[in-house]
Amino acid sequence: MAAAVNPFSLLRGPLRVGAWATIKASKEGLCISPSHPILQNAPRFRRTMCSVGSTNNEEAIAKVAAASADSGAPTIFDKIIAKEIPSTIVYEDEKVLAFRDINPQAPVHVVVIPKSRDGLTQLGKAEERHGDILGHLLYAAKLVAEKEGIVDGFRVVINNGPAACQSVYHIHLHVLGGRQLKWPPG
Ligand code: 5GP
Repeated sequence: MAAAVNPFSLLRGPLRVGAWATIKASKEGLCISPSHPILQNAPRFRRTMCSVGSTNNEEAIAKVAAASADSGAPTIFDKIIAKEIPSTIVYEDEKVLAFRDINPQAPVHVVVIPKSRDGLTQLGKAEERHGDILGHLLYAAKLVAEKEGIVDGFRVVINNGPAACQSVYHIHLHVLGGRQLKWPPG
């Protein structure tokens, strides 16, 4: 099964895929040609998709990621779990892995994921049987906060779906802290 495209790779400069499809992305904008494979499972988005500005960029990336959310394809987090790509691990047990976010939004920004996705591409797909792992993820978030010295003030975020700018379809908690966090969030 083809791996889901890591939308964050799109932020790392022009990406040429074959001779016929190009994604150009930067902090300033994102353009995806209609024939790019990332759009093949996404008829709704099968037109040139361009956006300008970092907020729009985030939203565009989230829409692209959502288009293949239900494909069951592995994500970048599978590679992190398999240690095929490096990450800075903060906490690990037999069920969950916590590692520093590559694009931190606070001095402490750790992502906590289940090692087995088990259908939990996003919180919106949770079923009753997922209760144990969801509880364990929250408990692991508290352990991470303790380890990072922010247990007195931290935030746990789950982005669910494109309207919340979810970009990786393997459920995950963001543990944020180390600075004064504002409310409401953006
Ligand atoms: P989401 O936007 O889906 O709520 O969160 C996904 C998070 O995963 C983002 O905050 C993003 O920075 C992080 N991320 C994406 N790719 C990688 C990666 O290769 N390594 C690490 N450490 N974090 C990543």
